[in-house]
Amino acid sequence: MYTGSHLKLILAILLVPSIFIFLIAADSENRNFITDPELTVEKISLDPVTDDLNIPKETKIKIKSGDTFYSTLVDFGISPVTINEIAKDRKLKKFINLRVNDELYITSNKEGLFVKRFDENFYLDVLKIEDNGYSFEKKRDNLERIAQFREFVIADSLYSSGKKANVPESVLGDLIYIFGWDIDYAFDIRNGDKVKILYEDIFSNGRLVSNGDILAAEFTNKGTKITVIRFTQRGRKDYYTTDSNNVRKAFLRTPIEFARISSHYNPNRKHPILNTIRAHKGTDYAAKTGTAVKATGDGVIKNAQYSNSYGNYIDIMHFNKYMTRYAHLNGFANGIKKGAKVTQGQTIGYVGSTGLATGPHLHYEFHINGKHTDPVKVEPPNAQSINSYNKKYFDKLVQERTEIISNISSIQ
Ligand SMILES: [Zn+2]
Repeated sequence: MYTGSHLKLILAILLVPSIFIFLIAADSENRNFITDPELTVEKISLDPVTDDLNIPKETKIKIKSGDTFYSTLVDFGISPVTINEIAKDRKLKKFINLRVNDELYITSNKEGLFVKRFDENFYLDVLKIEDNGYSFEKKRDNLERIAQFREFVIADSLYSSGKKANVPESVLGDLIYIFGWDIDYAFDIRNGDKVKILYEDIFSNGRLVSNGDILAAEFTNKGTKITVIRFTQRGRKDYYTTDSNNVRKAFLRTPIEFARISSHYNPNRKHPILNTIRAHKGTDYAAKTGTAVKATGDGVIKNAQYSNSYGNYIDIMHFNKYMTRYAHLNGFANGIKKGAKVTQGQTIGYVGSTGLATGPHLHYEFHINGKHTDPVKVEPPNAQSINSYNKKYFDKLVQERTEIISNISSIQ
């Protein structure tokens, strides 16, 4: 006869392997890389990537400020009646919502006018407009990922040297972000520093649709080489040093980008409104009302409410040990409420001057085990390193990707 504890034991035996399989599956992207024939050394192209389409009579349109779907199609001779009909089609809502720098490819032949664009997953959407109607098709062809390699020696600035070496803008941006945790670009960069980048390009139906992620990169700064490898762990893509440490810190330095500190942490400050000695247990950042405020670390919202002194404020708990507080907010971002999970860098609210505030600013606090700490002086821990069950695969990736870089590199 089954008792409750027998049943629990059976469930546990059934569940443990499936959890394991789930974790393996979540990291499978990286496993595939090892056996992916597209990413062998022979196939890596060293030529600058061009997106020459080689398709006759196709026009590539880059959306500029002020352009709309309507104005674009009118230019191609489509009747306003037809465009309005398309605009009313709910199925096409996303397709016709154009933003600056979006790209459309337009071809015309005797069958009609074809308007193509890639969706956010790089699949091709095709709108065909004929004399008496239109049709819409989403193409689900396989995406192709091809590794690319670039390297350069810094001669003037990281940015301009990278551009000269044909590193795409987005890849350069990613590089700056990844190494920005360890390297202070304003002070640490030297002429002669070396950068090597292995990244992937994504092709859909034979055309380049995106410069994808950096797969591995080496940065030799003042003679010290840092190598990072991309790895997805529990569904989260991060960069790790070859000894398995996450380059990302568990906390961002500041909750607002490019903001100026208007008041430091100070236990003996005179309060500007109450005019009494009242400790300033946080850091103030001056910013315009409405500026986005970001969660500095992954966590769970403990409070998102109003108080007379803090105004609209948010408290986030991180790993049961740390708490961050964001006060005087103009308002909360969508979905921000008690119990909601947030990820590092997610916009949680907007700068304001609610509560006891003389003007718009963000008051930011950092608590460790319930104690106030100076947010500027805190040395944030690194985000999670490679798990023991991923270690073997990670080490294999490190070996493979560093080998590719050393085989292909011509800079010593
Ligand atoms: Zn303050």
